[in-house]
Amino acid sequence: MNKVRIVIAGGGAAGHKLAYALQQEAEVTLIDPKPFYEMPLAAPRLFVAPRELPAIMPYAEFLPKVHFIEGTLESVASGQVTARETNDKGSRIAYDLALWCLGTKPDAQYMKANYPETLNDRGEIQVESTLRVKGLANVFALGDVADFKEKGAAWAGFQGRIVAANLRALMKQGPGAALNKYKLPMADTSIVLTLGRYNGVAQLPFVVTTWPWLLRKLKSQTMGVPSARKAIGLS
Ligand SMILES: Cc1cc2nc3c(=O)[nH]c(=O)nc-3n(C[C@H](O)[C@H](O)[C@H](O)COP(=O)(O)OP(=O)(O)OC[C@H]3O[C@@H](n4cnc5c(N)ncnc54)[C@H](O)[C@@H]3O)c2cc1C
Repeated sequence: MNKVRIVIAGGGAAGHKLAYALQQEAEVTLIDPKPFYEMPLAAPRLFVAPRELPAIMPYAEFLPKVHFIEGTLESVASGQVTARETNDKGSRIAYDLALWCLGTKPDAQYMKANYPETLNDRGEIQVESTLRVKGLANVFALGDVADFKEKGAAWAGFQGRIVAANLRALMKQGPGAALNKYKLPMADTSIVLTLGRYNGVAQLPFVVTTWPWLLRKLKSQTMGVPSARKAIGLS
């Protein structure tokens, strides 16, 4: 049986993990202008200590089954997207299911030509609670580009789990599959701010704390890089 063709546009916090999770069971194409995932959380640390954390993860190291296109998503039509490759070549890619994970600056020009009604007035893509794009049966959007109030890597991760489960259900059971719904798993005011490698402040659901030991463990020391690498099979 032919594998389902999935196009993932954007290999950031949400997209790289979904590509990793789905690469064995589907024919996945990933489009991103750079050939690696760089954890945004760790980026400020890399400015001051460029070699301290292995926060740059080349797609080739953990996505061996994925067809990678270095470029940007340019336009979207029913069953087909067009990408502009870095070498200025155009690519047309057919899809059965598509995922938009394009990040913090909602610039959904690629949706405007054929699907302007999917965008809100901030340029974000409107999704249902299943993360399916409103009005499109086989396109999902998640992370910062989706029209959720909460933006951040943690939320993108929670949404990624729902989307992966929904795509698996659709691949197995077809269009009638019952889909999971995304619910905010904790207050969207939860945040961990770091201050160097040893300090910071955390606003957690029941407490606000500056306890250095906890802050170090939660985030300050490694910025979550080891667990992000482990999640995609890298040591
Ligand atoms: C410096 C910094 C620190 C941060 N710290 C935290 C933190 O501590 N905690 C937290 O929860 N969040 C943090 N964030 C926010 C967090 O990184 C984002 O919310 C998260 O990365 C969103 O995930 P995403 O997959 O939606 O988008 P992104 O991770 O931004 O990924 C978008 C991807 O899409 C690609 N792309 C863009 N346009 C196109 C196109 N047209 N075609 C193809 N690909 C395209 C980009 O190259 C990128 O790889 C931080 C962000 C920054 C910048």
